[in-house]
Amino acid sequence: MNKVKLHDLEFVPYLSEADILARVQELGTQLAADYSGRTPCFLVVLKGAAIFAADLIRATGIPCELTFIELASYEGTASSGAVRMATKLPQRLSGKDVIVVEDIIDTGRTMHFLLPQLEAIGAKSTAIATLLHKPDAQQFDLDLQYVGFEIPNDFVVGYGLDYEQHGRELSAIYVKK
Ligand code: 5GP
Ligand code: MG
Repeated sequence: MNKVKLHDLEFVPYLSEADILARVQELGTQLAADYSGRTPCFLVVLKGAAIFAADLIRATGIPCELTFIELASYEGTASSGAVRMATKLPQRLSGKDVIVVEDIIDTGRTMHFLLPQLEAIGAKSTAIATLLHKPDAQQFDLDLQYVGFEIPNDFVVGYGLDYEQHGRELSAIYVKK
């Protein structure tokens, strides 16, 4: 893996494709055991979690439903301090076991904003599956049931995560130099 340049910034390899896929498989196995006999609904937070979700859902191999929401809270390489909901919350989540699929938990603001709304529309249960978590950046209290990797408070791209819409196609994860 070599370094990559996106817009004005350089990024260096951080998590290899093989490491990511191995960990995603473990999370899938764990979800399959925990949701055995149920048909959960994966709620994928666009856009960043799309690539992770595609691999995670196939790794679980269990019957499920799938829906999406688009939320945005980042500007450039920092949290903007506000969460923007670009699409409406799907109403069909009422009565469902919802697994929110996120790319990364940073301050925790996005999930702190979303979870009460899922409860308000009558989700039967909620859980969070996130590929990455930055414990040192977290400001909002959350129950994180499924975490791929805990990482330092640095800006990362790849495997769905972008810098100004670039870098999502990278199979590995890279960190800002
Ligand atoms: P939070 O609301 O937890 O502060 O931030 C969550 C969202 O911010 C993530 O879903 C992601 O879109 C974005 N984000 C946080 N940290 C990073 C990062 O290191 N790289 C990228 N590309 N996005 C990030
Ligand atoms: Mg996200």
